[in-house]
Amino acid sequence: MVGNPSTETKDMAMSETTTTSPIGCHGLVFSGNVDEQGIAEAVARTEKAGFDLLEIPLLDPFGFDVAAAKRALAAHDVQVTASLGLPEGADISTGDPEQVQRGEKVLQRVLEVMSDLESRHVCGVLYGMLKKYPAPATDAGRAASQEVLARIGRRATELGITVSLEIVNRYESNMFNTATGALAFLDEIGEDALKAHLDTYHMNIEESDMFLPVLAAAQAGRLGYVHIGESHRGYLGTGTVDFDSFFRALHHVGYDGPITFESFSTAVVDDVLSTSLAIWRNLWKDGDDLAAHANAYIRGALRSNETLEMH
Ligand code: MN
Repeated sequence: MVGNPSTETKDMAMSETTTTSPIGCHGLVFSGNVDEQGIAEAVARTEKAGFDLLEIPLLDPFGFDVAAAKRALAAHDVQVTASLGLPEGADISTGDPEQVQRGEKVLQRVLEVMSDLESRHVCGVLYGMLKKYPAPATDAGRAASQEVLARIGRRATELGITVSLEIVNRYESNMFNTATGALAFLDEIGEDALKAHLDTYHMNIEESDMFLPVLAAAQAGRLGYVHIGESHRGYLGTGTVDFDSFFRALHHVGYDGPITFESFSTAVVDDVLSTSLAIWRNLWKDGDDLAAHANAYIRGALRSNETLEMH
């Protein structure tokens, strides 16, 4: 189909990035729930802010109404992904047989839900809970988590879904806190559908810099998903994250997977997630302004790196 000339001219504007990465936004920027109305609101505002993708917080895949989500997504040209940490009582990293069984059911259900929504990506803390653990991970717990994830990886391959394990800071997981740790964990499992998920907020706390972890994950063939978050989880560019190095690294390795903006405020609350993430103060009120700013910031960073080819 031939588009109308004015649209084509706009599409080819100099400021437009040529990246193939879908640029997205976490649902909690817009809505604290994922019922039909919550998804409808989040997807409409995601699109309005200029993003390609909505990341759905799928903390309760059994309570999630797939048909309602399909209705809410139908009118929009927006891709979806899902993220979560395992719920209380379903922590596969405990090694407790009942928890391991419940956790695996949650993860299997997440894959089926997202396959129904034609999603290609599931990410987050899928190997345990998102919480401050009082002790190091045990060998038995690590092995149990890896055994479940091996089966999840095989099912994900059948469904054509990439499952990316998010690397989070020491206060939110005891399994691994750096790209090096995550890549070792993934190598031990050895499933192609399982990848590493880098988040700039967590990298800023734990990594030596913002460049080498991207390089390491990409060289291992395991960079599957990216979260863009500021050091205080507010407006991009107002904290201490070295985004210049991070976006330079993404460009350098030719990353083409999802790049999703994450920000949290007491203005939009999920009872479980907001407390797990220790969202105690307000860094923004207007999710639409925040999101449009983030979309422009991310696309601008990608675009400026593309011009390096002319240097
Ligand atoms: Mn994240």
